[in-house]
Amino acid sequence: METTIKFAAINPATEQELTGQFPQHNEQNVDLAAAAANEVAKAYRQTTPQQRHDLLHAIADSLEEARETIVARAKLESALPEARLNGELSRTTAQLRLFASVVMGGLWQEAVFDSANPQREPLPKPDIRRQNIALGPVAVFGASNFPLAFSTAGGDTASALAAGCPVVVKGHPAHPGTSDIVAKCIAKALKNQALPQAIFTLLQGTSHELGQAVVKHPMIKAVGFTGSIHGGRALFDLAQQRPEPIPFFGELGASNPVFILPGRMKNQHQTLAEEYLLSMNMGCGQFCTKPAVVFVEKGENSSQFLNAVRQGIENHQGQTMLTSGIKRNYLEQSEKRAQQKGLSLTQSTPDQGVPSKLFETTSEAWRNNPQWQEEIFGPQSVVVICETGEEMIALSQELAGSLTATIHADEADYPLAKRLLPELEEVAGRIVFNAWPTGVEVSYAMVHGGPYPASTMPASTSVGAEAIKRWLRPVAYQSVPDALLPTSLQQANPLNVRRSVDGK
Ligand code: NAP
Repeated sequence: METTIKFAAINPATEQELTGQFPQHNEQNVDLAAAAANEVAKAYRQTTPQQRHDLLHAIADSLEEARETIVARAKLESALPEARLNGELSRTTAQLRLFASVVMGGLWQEAVFDSANPQREPLPKPDIRRQNIALGPVAVFGASNFPLAFSTAGGDTASALAAGCPVVVKGHPAHPGTSDIVAKCIAKALKNQALPQAIFTLLQGTSHELGQAVVKHPMIKAVGFTGSIHGGRALFDLAQQRPEPIPFFGELGASNPVFILPGRMKNQHQTLAEEYLLSMNMGCGQFCTKPAVVFVEKGENSSQFLNAVRQGIENHQGQTMLTSGIKRNYLEQSEKRAQQKGLSLTQSTPDQGVPSKLFETTSEAWRNNPQWQEEIFGPQSVVVICETGEEMIALSQELAGSLTATIHADEADYPLAKRLLPELEEVAGRIVFNAWPTGVEVSYAMVHGGPYPASTMPASTSVGAEAIKRWLRPVAYQSVPDALLPTSLQQANPLNVRRSVDGK
């Protein structure tokens, strides 16, 4: 899909243009992509699980073949280290292969049967069979902070293709070259599997209008998004204002609160300080699961913990952020926060890259400044010093929705932990115990979501096997003759689909 207007990627480490020109797609390109996706949607929805399984493996294989090229380009465009990008590519291919297994496993289909009872009084009971089917063409927004695992062939694309939905990706303008190489790998896999190219399209560009046109397009039936609260909320509102509103699965922002209970603090303060520093600085703090607030109880042990954290912050080496815009946001927002009353600041003074920042505050000041819960994307975090464990419970009741909530506790802390846990269930999609929230397992039980603003759809997850359900909707077939039913619901069960019959 060509256009005459092009743009170049910027290397965030040098702030210079990189080689390569990428098309600035426009509304007309959106229309072509969505119409083509719509044209193949029905046939793609009806492909067998085996065909979709083979496609997902073919994409993973194709990405593996291009590993070196992909990682080299992603490094230039994101300033992320090679080891991290290699790991991220492995995670991306593992996600594709996981969804291949999910499709074959059949649970996503949720085949449910109610047997007929013609003798039932006062009215006969009909035969009803239900299954999930693909929604149709979906849009996926590539994320800046995961140029591979949450971008062009990332988790949203993998789960949507597994569900049987054609995908239109709006690539993130920070890494167009990476997106382009990955899109070519997907195109190659589609060709090898003799499937139409229109099942996947990458649109690129640097204007808000492009993303808005994708969300507004009448043939797009759902959206997956990872990014800022501001951008995500604007697009969510647009999706709801359409003549036909559509589901918008936005993963927006989270503070990922951590509670270190006194017994654990007493026994582990040095280790906890080291782990906290690693977690908050990981990827230059550009993780949606970064621990942005840590609650501790006042006392000698937490003082030692804080001394170690302050020292680690002061000595921390600077890292380059993903884009100049993200760097500007980080510096502006963290400097503004530093000027607010009630916070003390410790920061590093790196020769290169951005400083890491630790804020400390009291429970009272924290309570009076709910705006401190807002995400600042980058290597900063706040420690809230509470007078008592009771105060920790009280503050846990005032938290905004979050992707994760963490408890560090030894056995002596269990009575307090037991009271804290149900409070944290109210606010988070994932409860972490004696570990740190960064690092999300891609697996069957994982939940990466939570109440707003963690997610615009708190009943869903954007990571793990369940993510496939975002792209499906249920259809019930009442009294439809066996010969006319979809194969998966036929009495003889030729596809060997797992079924629930009359509630069993
Ligand atoms: P972003 O600004 O939310 O952008 C994400 C995507 O949405 C881009 O493709 C962007 O495209 C598009 N977009 C943003 N605002 C839009 C609007 N009003 N209308 C239409 N499209 C819009 O996120 P970002 O560029 O990755 O980083 C900016 C900030 O987002 C960070 O500083 C951070 O606060 C936050 N962030 C959070 C997470 C997280 O996991 N929680 C991850 C990444 C970023 P265009 O820019 O081309 O329009």
